[in-house]
Amino acid sequence: MLSLYFRDQGYAVKEVGVGGRDGGVDLVIIDKRGEKTAVQAKCYAEHNKVQVMTVRELVAAKRNHDCILSLLITTSDLTADARREAEQFKVDYWHGGLIENKLRAWGKWQPGKGNKKPKKATPTGSTVKTITCACGAPMVARKNKEGKAFWGCSTYPVCRKTKAM
Ligand SMILES: [Zn+2]
Repeated sequence: MLSLYFRDQGYAVKEVGVGGRDGGVDLVIIDKRGEKTAVQAKCYAEHNKVQVMTVRELVAAKRNHDCILSLLITTSDLTADARREAEQFKVDYWHGGLIENKLRAWGKWQPGKGNKKPKKATPTGSTVKTITCACGAPMVARKNKEGKAFWGCSTYPVCRKTKAM
């Protein structure tokens, strides 16, 4: 999912950590200027915080992938030690709330709904019309004494406007 996300943000993405030992890096993302960022993603439950070791692995591994920058992404958060380490070694990090906001803004992801089918579009060609009265209220179908249908203001008797069907 992060591969798709970064591609949509205009990065070229290499999935280096797929299928087996990732050596501390999951993705290498390359921006339009050719600058490479090593990305490590940890999908952890909220109580399971990213440890300082993960930050160290990423710092060590980014060189193997020819990256200057590094980014740690987690659904959880970093321990205080891990944050300090990240700040010291200029590892950018996105944690829980931040990554959720970014993915929401992206619009291709919905929280807690894995592979939800896209919503069905509203049917087109529907014959249901909404008629609005001059007063701004919707008009509703009514019948007069002779049984002839007409549009009458829904606020009747406040507004007594009518319209022929
Ligand atoms: Zn009206």
